[in-house]
Amino acid sequence: MGQELSCARSSQEHEFFSAVQTGDLEAVESALRRDPDLLHQTTIYDRLSALHIAAANGRVEVLSMLLGRYVSPNVLNRNKQTPLMLATIHGKIACVRKLLQAEANILMFDSLHGRTCLHYAAYYGHSNCLQAILSAAQSTSVADSWGFARFVNIRDGHGATPLHLAARQKRPNCVHILLDSGALVCASTGGYSCPGSTPLHLAARGGCLDCVRELLAWGADRLQRDASGRIPYAVAVKRNHGACAALLDPTSAEPLVWPSPLKFISELDRDAKSLLEAALMEANREREKKILKGTAYSLPSPAHSDDGIDDDISETSESELCCICFDQICTIEVQDCGHRMCAHCTLALCCHNKPNPTTLCPPAPACPFCRSNIARLVVAKAKDEGDKGSSKLRRSRRSWNFSEGSSSFKGLSSAMGSFGKMGRGSGRIADSNDMVDKP
Ligand SMILES: [Zn+2]
Ligand SMILES: [Zn+2]
Repeated sequence: MGQELSCARSSQEHEFFSAVQTGDLEAVESALRRDPDLLHQTTIYDRLSALHIAAANGRVEVLSMLLGRYVSPNVLNRNKQTPLMLATIHGKIACVRKLLQAEANILMFDSLHGRTCLHYAAYYGHSNCLQAILSAAQSTSVADSWGFARFVNIRDGHGATPLHLAARQKRPNCVHILLDSGALVCASTGGYSCPGSTPLHLAARGGCLDCVRELLAWGADRLQRDASGRIPYAVAVKRNHGACAALLDPTSAEPLVWPSPLKFISELDRDAKSLLEAALMEANREREKKILKGTAYSLPSPAHSDDGIDDDISETSESELCCICFDQICTIEVQDCGHRMCAHCTLALCCHNKPNPTTLCPPAPACPFCRSNIARLVVAKAKDEGDKGSSKLRRSRRSWNFSEGSSSFKGLSSAMGSFGKMGRGSGRIADSNDMVDKP
């Protein structure tokens, strides 16, 4: 950002912009006392205002002072970029927050590629900025005038959504946040009638295994074709991204897909959600190991692969074992009936059908113990805390006689057990649910 400053008109201007750039608040203020007009001057070539320079360099004190003097937060540079865009590009989160507080417009498009601040956050992989902008979108007038879902899927001049850019630039954290916020996983960069690339094509091109994994777990279609008629697998093969290609190969086992269309999944509290998400990622990693086993690609095991669930087991040795798989600890509770199971079995219950994009509301699964509809899932609390919940649980346990063990329940139990070890395909679990349905 510094090179343009030499284009200032006078040495006084140059001093002023330099002070803004280095965050020298005192020098900026004294320069403004001498010449208040400096507030509205811009650099000659890029037409950067003091606010742009402060934002791009993360000088939040100077930025606050300028905003306090009624400088518009939406002033534009030569490329029609706002200070918010520059702060986002450079990952200056404090300035991003300050500008959002000052009600900077998040719906401005630059003249370079027709991108918004959300595109820039995704492109440069600044997930904290991305999150801040999305929160602002939820609470400001954008949500009313545009709709939040539309904002998340906003297109740049080339038809790319923020999710496309995050996938292309190998930004798995941003991919995750965007998908979690309602980004369309199968959006195509093409117009309505002509096909373009999906985020999965772009992740395949970049060879980012984490992005491919995230997109598949959110239901990305391995068979969707781009403008040249290629599926993502062909793109990965062409670019020699072998591990990605193995997962994208339409003949390899499909990963479990996060059951986002289910109402109670979208209403999960944070702890329950992270338990289920961890179980999903773990289950999919097991599948990946099988897929990659025969190939030359071994998966580096991520540092966080064994966190959460295993820790819970050692901490709460008194906890009850899941009655479905007899393998994991119960961590999830069905709220109304109080029945408990492990995160893996909960997922097995919810993931047996890949969400179909044309039918937004799949049938809600029922509690495998009492067949009541699941309206809400919560984290199962340890038994000694919260008397009310545990007595309720004991009551419901008594009413359900496990020792009698109907054959249909055994069917579910064995199918779910194999789910835990990833032995069988998703179709098998659906079968076992059918068995439970029969008396
Ligand atoms: Zn279980
Ligand atoms: Zn129940």
